[in-house]
Amino acid sequence: MTFHQLQREIIEPGLCTACGACQLACPPDVIGFDGLLPVLTADAWGADDCAGCGDCLAVCPGLDPATPAAEERLFGRTREPAERWTGVFAEVLAGHATEPGLYRASASGGSLTVLLQTALLALGAGVALCMGRDPEEPWRAAPVLVRDPAALVEQSQSTYQLAPYLGALRQVMREEPETGVALTGVACHIQAMRKLQAMDTAAGRWARDRVVLMVEPACSSSTRPEGTATLIRERAEIPLESVVRLRYREGEYPGNIEIRTDDGERHTVAFWQAVRDFAANKTHRCLSCGDWMSGIADVSVSDGDPNIFAASVEQREQHKHGRVFVRTGAGAKAVAEAGARGLLRHTPVELAGLNLGLERKRNRRASYEKSGLPIPNGPIPGHTEELAEIVPDERLIAAPETEASR
Ligand SMILES: Cc1cc2nc3c(=O)[nH]c(=O)nc-3n(C[C@H](O)[C@H](O)[C@H](O)COP(=O)(O)OP(=O)(O)OC[C@H]3O[C@@H](n4cnc5c(N)ncnc54)[C@H](O)[C@@H]3O)c2cc1C
Ligand code: SF4
Ligand code: SF4
Ligand code: SF4
Repeated sequence: MTFHQLQREIIEPGLCTACGACQLACPPDVIGFDGLLPVLTADAWGADDCAGCGDCLAVCPGLDPATPAAEERLFGRTREPAERWTGVFAEVLAGHATEPGLYRASASGGSLTVLLQTALLALGAGVALCMGRDPEEPWRAAPVLVRDPAALVEQSQSTYQLAPYLGALRQVMREEPETGVALTGVACHIQAMRKLQAMDTAAGRWARDRVVLMVEPACSSSTRPEGTATLIRERAEIPLESVVRLRYREGEYPGNIEIRTDDGERHTVAFWQAVRDFAANKTHRCLSCGDWMSGIADVSVSDGDPNIFAASVEQREQHKHGRVFVRTGAGAKAVAEAGARGLLRHTPVELAGLNLGLERKRNRRASYEKSGLPIPNGPIPGHTEELAEIVPDERLIAAPETEASR
């Protein structure tokens, strides 16, 4: 097995998620990225193919997220059909950060950031991987390694933009192999890390021994960098070069896109508008994705309000919070420790009410399952999504004026 096989089976059919796990797992370090696509780094290798260990294909979640194997290892069982979209969990809590600065800055209350902070403070992590910005182009998403719990606040909030991600851990694995790692990542990131942890390779052993906590935001879909670039240039009418800071969920819940420019101005695009604009810039892998949450993170968090698109349209005021799905022993310990330190407030909550992101995902997945196109495996082998009617995405995120005229 060589890189060419990864190219043929994953990258060319559009199944690459840009997770970056192949870059992290490749023993001779010959994988780089051209935009969102993995490539062989010619200067590192000098030929048009590699040694052929197959580790890149083995770790890749693009076609096979390998959820059942991870569930057997973590929970001793695979999920039931009723758990198709949530995965196995011990309990669900309504949670939010107590620190006002983090609460304000976060997407849905800051539970995720609190858990990363707790991992740094009390669970043996020396570094946390999260999604931040490229210092050269501050509108562009990029992975960031953070060591100071307070510095995690600036990396909070949802980033609705794809960027090669897990390869950033290579530096930690190589230069400080004893350091404990906490990370946040969407479903495909977590799936890749669980696959890596099961591999009998140097990188696999490192991931098993050193990754102390994995927390995930739910993910209805993400967007190519071009989606954000177009929003900035065409919707906000701002040159990309003038952007110094970009946030996707700034201000009153659910928040809006806020673009700060080098003249000190702040420009805002309504969240619902951005959701509609982003729809034109999705990858085949995201559109056909079979997971809202991987269900194999230690803790998963979704928005507390099940329809933040409508909340954005109606500008409803509400107390923001997240739904915190506690799954593993490591996750339960992190939540307990965060509560004991007074960083996280939480109460048990019933799982009720549809989540629009999940509804969009279910409908898209159902249509891709019928399409005959190559799509990633879902978490239950052979399970297909049976909906009475497949609702097109445009209808689920109809513009307010269209809503009014219906
Ligand atoms: C692409 C995307 C789609 C989502 N879709 C849904 C949905 O359909 N329904 C729903 O209920 N919730 C969805 N969420 C989750 C929701 O928006 C919040 O992220 C979640 O509720 C956690 O909020 P929080 O305040 O606890 O997190 P915060 O404390 O604000 O922290 C968020 C953490 O997630 C990390 N992060 C943000 N974006 C990414 C990314 N792209 N990749 C890896 N890590 C990232 C940040 O670095 C930060 O550490 C989505 C999130 C993302 C990123
Ligand atoms: S992981 Fe192995 S097969 Fe894949 S690119 Fe690296 S050397 Fe080649
Ligand atoms: S491991 Fe991730 S980045 Fe690499 S080919 Fe697979 S999906 Fe793409
Ligand atoms: S939709 Fe799926 S493939 Fe795309 S970023 Fe989210 S979890 Fe990854």
